Amino acid sequence: MKKTLIKRILAAALCGLTAAAAAGCGSVKGSAIAFNENGEKKLSVVCTGFSEYDWTKNILGEKAADTELTYLLDNGVDMHSYQPTAADIAKISTCDVFVYVGGESQEWAEDALANSTCRPVRLLDVLEKNGSAKEEEIKEGMQAEEECEEEGAPEYDEHVWLTPGNAEIFVRAICDELAAADPAGKDVYTKAADDYIVQLDGLKADFTAELSACPNKTLIVADRFPFRYLADEYGLDYYAAFAGCSAETEASFETVAFLSQKLDETDAKTVFTLENSNGKIAAAVIANSKEKSAGTAALDSLQSVNSTQINNGASYISIMRKNLEALKTALK
Ligand SMILES: [Zn+2]
Repeated sequence: MKKTLIKRILAAALCGLTAAAAAGCGSVKGSAIAFNENGEKKLSVVCTGFSEYDWTKNILGEKAADTELTYLLDNGVDMHSYQPTAADIAKISTCDVFVYVGGESQEWAEDALANSTCRPVRLLDVLEKNGSAKEEEIKEGMQAEEECEEEGAPEYDEHVWLTPGNAEIFVRAICDELAAADPAGKDVYTKAADDYIVQLDGLKADFTAELSACPNKTLIVADRFPFRYLADEYGLDYYAAFAGCSAETEASFETVAFLSQKLDETDAKTVFTLENSNGKIAAAVIANSKEKSAGTAALDSLQSVNSTQINNGASYISIMRKNLEALKTALK
């Protein structure tokens, strides 16, 4: 279903471009082509998610003003419900570097790339080459989705950005592609990437120190669980209502009862949700527990950061630091 839709959007986008070109129109609506003050075409970089966008912004350093950097999901739509518009497809087909995750919720990207000459950076490929991609995990107690899973090879967990160690690997990979697309900027990108990795190293060290000092290691999550990379890297265990990409929002009685039981067994004091949760499942889990005294806290999966938050200074590092604070408070 999705593929046909994308092909139709793509065809419409390309028709639009051709028609505009034939009409001799100078500025094509939806096109990503921007020019600097010398009339040269700016380097155009398109990122799907907030993390890729924020890393790239940091790597561009003093070349940021010479670059047209686009964050596709800037209206805060969740990565799992996003569908590209014709303008988005046009942007991808005319950009120089396209940074995307390439997991199950971004299958549309392969069709968008079919007609693009850009340099793609697919984060899952980067991790796979590195040998650190992880397959999706369905854990005890997770509510299965109604829709049957497709037969075939197991899928990789797409939420690869949620650990500072992976972020460092991606920053290097994005830096290499920017330098390949714009060799004149190589020194700037390399220097800025090095500086940014020093900051990521600091974040990584704080996660290691703070979480290893926490006596409790089990997270109770009354929501989807996209934090597998983080949990594995820092030796955390977890029980969650749904898998990371699940479209389920209503928990069954069994799911709530299972999480309440785990809350009692582990003596956890906090039930986690994701950002933007209405908190209903967490409230039900606490109401069904013996003590009924646990609190709730949100972990931000960075999947729905919008332009207002960015204007207010949200960054990958600031949001991950808030996550660390929430984990530390819950697990002490
Ligand atoms: Zn997902």
